[in-house]
Amino acid sequence: MRRKSREIKKPNTSGISIKWKLLFYLALFTAFVLFVVWLFQVVLLNRFYESTKLDELNEAAVELAGVVSNTEKLKDMAEEVLSDAMIVSRVYRLGHDGYAYRIMSQDWVGNYYLKTAKSEELEQLFNKARKSSDGAYYFRKTVNESTDAPPRPRGEAERKEMVYVQMVSSENDIYIIMLNMMYTPLDSTVNTLNLQFLWIAIILLSGAVILSGIISNRISTPIVKMNESARKLATGSYDADFEGEGYRETCELADTLNYASAELSKVDTLQKELIANVSHDLRTPLTMITGYSEVMRDIPGENTPENVQVIIDESTRLTGLVNDILDISKIQSGTVGFEKNIFNLTETVRSAMTRYGKLIEHDGYTIAFHADTDVSVCADRNRILQVIYNLINNAVNYAGEDKTVEVRQTTENGVVRIAVRDNGEGIAPEDIDKIWDRYYKVDRVHKRAVVGSGLGLSIVKGVLEAHNAAYGIESTPGEGSTFWFELNLASEGNAIFSDNPAKK
Ligand code: ADP
Repeated sequence: MRRKSREIKKPNTSGISIKWKLLFYLALFTAFVLFVVWLFQVVLLNRFYESTKLDELNEAAVELAGVVSNTEKLKDMAEEVLSDAMIVSRVYRLGHDGYAYRIMSQDWVGNYYLKTAKSEELEQLFNKARKSSDGAYYFRKTVNESTDAPPRPRGEAERKEMVYVQMVSSENDIYIIMLNMMYTPLDSTVNTLNLQFLWIAIILLSGAVILSGIISNRISTPIVKMNESARKLATGSYDADFEGEGYRETCELADTLNYASAELSKVDTLQKELIANVSHDLRTPLTMITGYSEVMRDIPGENTPENVQVIIDESTRLTGLVNDILDISKIQSGTVGFEKNIFNLTETVRSAMTRYGKLIEHDGYTIAFHADTDVSVCADRNRILQVIYNLINNAVNYAGEDKTVEVRQTTENGVVRIAVRDNGEGIAPEDIDKIWDRYYKVDRVHKRAVVGSGLGLSIVKGVLEAHNAAYGIESTPGEGSTFWFELNLASEGNAIFSDNPAKK
């Protein structure tokens, strides 16, 4: 694992905290709600009220218009619809002589405009209604209170009246309906609402402040805690525990961070083990090389080919170890390129076995290769060779007393499978998934003769995955293991290609 030894930066405090953001948006929302309420309840209240009054007059006029040609019915209707709202009414029929004849009137106590208006004023109203497109005309005015009317209480608005004129034609006659109602504007209500409104604004805004405080506290507490744990993690304390505290998103984040910290801790442990193992592995051949060289230099007659061979063997072991480390870091960082070509896989395995066999036969090992037929694949030959060597090497290392290694090639459905089997100690089921990890070694007791760097299988995994090849292990503890991988057979149509980025 590469960890940059940078210092943890001081917390960045320039961003706006959740609390203030939340407060801002809640205050904005509250202000908007208050504005809407104020607009409707305060500013437009009187207008709405007046328009409902106008609607009432309008509806009454429509009712009367329906029966305007029948005076009896008209009177009944007037009784029915006009008495509730105390609407004063006049209905005229326009005679052919140009005069308007009153056919119905209804009055209530009070200084209604229609009751006091002169005939010229009524005529003016009629003319205005006639000129308008819908034959209707209305106006509002303050009521002329009679001098003997009781004085208005302080703060109460002046009463107003609304006069409505509608021209109607029925059975070749033209009628004029005039209606007049009084009402008290809602000014005092508006004043009360205005006062209330101030209190509502204060209460709602304080509510927004308290609510944003509570919510932001609830949301930010787990984040703050997770931040503290993350800072611990950054300094290398992998036991840092992340808790999401009840929110799905923060819980998911906590789970991810817990997973990351577990993975980091695993890699860290493995890395420490590797350093211990590798340094041990490096020290032993180096000691041997130095020791043998000193003996050859100081003691006459010790300069024998056997001693030189020991130095060569130990140097080779060193090279192998260093190469493994380089390979795995290149494969995992993605800097290694795979050069795919069609080659004879069977022949490649066979020659590798022959070479390997020669190396170990004097130690009493038997290695056998069985192939159904000669097959070709399209892959990176050198890397596949490395896979085969690593698997055989492991099989030899872990073959135990049996000392038999068998490599079998089978072909089926255009896929070739290479299986390397040994009859050694096998692998415990709980270790099977882990042995592909870098630096993982089942046998924690460091035995130089048997145990390698712990990198062999992760190189195998890296190479096979780069080839999209299937691979796996079948192993029974005490009976041995079979490591296998599969490659697609090269067909004639298979292109020879290279995905080495350096060569593009
Ligand atoms: P090493 O260099 O330690 O062999 P590898 O990555 O090749 O590293 O293997 C990882 C671990 O998997 C080994 O330490 C060993 O415990 C286990 N292992 C690999 N091959 C075999 C095998 N054929 N039989 C039993 N155990 C094996």
